[in-house]
Amino acid sequence: MTLVVGLGISAGLGVLMAQAQAELPIIPGTPWRIHDVGRPRPPVVAPGATVTAPPADAIVLFNGRDLSQWSGRGGGPAGWPVRDGYFETGAGAGSIATRDSFGDVQLHLEFQIPVEGAGAPSHGNSGVILMGLYEIQIIDSYNADHYPDGQGGSIYGEWPPLVNPARKPGDWQSYDIVFEAPRFNGAALLAPAYFTVMWNGVIVHNRQPVAGPTRLLTLHQYAPHEAELPLQLQDHSHPVKFRNVWIRRLTGYDQQK
Ligand code: MG
Repeated sequence: MTLVVGLGISAGLGVLMAQAQAELPIIPGTPWRIHDVGRPRPPVVAPGATVTAPPADAIVLFNGRDLSQWSGRGGGPAGWPVRDGYFETGAGAGSIATRDSFGDVQLHLEFQIPVEGAGAPSHGNSGVILMGLYEIQIIDSYNADHYPDGQGGSIYGEWPPLVNPARKPGDWQSYDIVFEAPRFNGAALLAPAYFTVMWNGVIVHNRQPVAGPTRLLTLHQYAPHEAELPLQLQDHSHPVKFRNVWIRRLTGYDQQK
């Protein structure tokens, strides 16, 4: 079991966490402690086949050939390998972030968890971290048991997915995420962040308010931050593949882009 503090978050469950769990805080609005192994497992749902190509106004974040839209450690080039139309987490290379910053968005991405290593703790751990702060977990959740608020599709450390439509390792899966950035007025929180997430075409979060930026083993809480920040993909030392990544900035009704 490796506990990585900050956004390098682990979803493995080991003796250390089990022992510590009774001490962890109860997530407000729920009867459950953070990473509560007693929390109900989301029902399994077999997804249909879906592929979503980018619409005309999408910002394509991966062209199938290079990671020019992304930066790596210290703002340098993203050091993740690109192969045949996909890229893959470069174990130890660190998380990557978009060169552009985003606030309210619609995001589509596809990911594949490797067959190799299935069954090991934290198998296929990565994550989609909106604004570099708010993580939707990626981890093997097909016939794999995790604490529910850290399984695939979870708003990490807060909310399990409503159901579990995971595909098996080796299959391409998709997230379609609508994210509303939090609003601040000076130090005051005007509105929290909201996640609406479809996993393999199945809704797993329905405009769910978020308690704050993802943190490990402590309650999430807001601190004011910029209106737009880069999107991150997490390097958790597991070779997760990605393809067909595109994003659209969201506007309100009656607004021109
Ligand atoms: Mg993760």
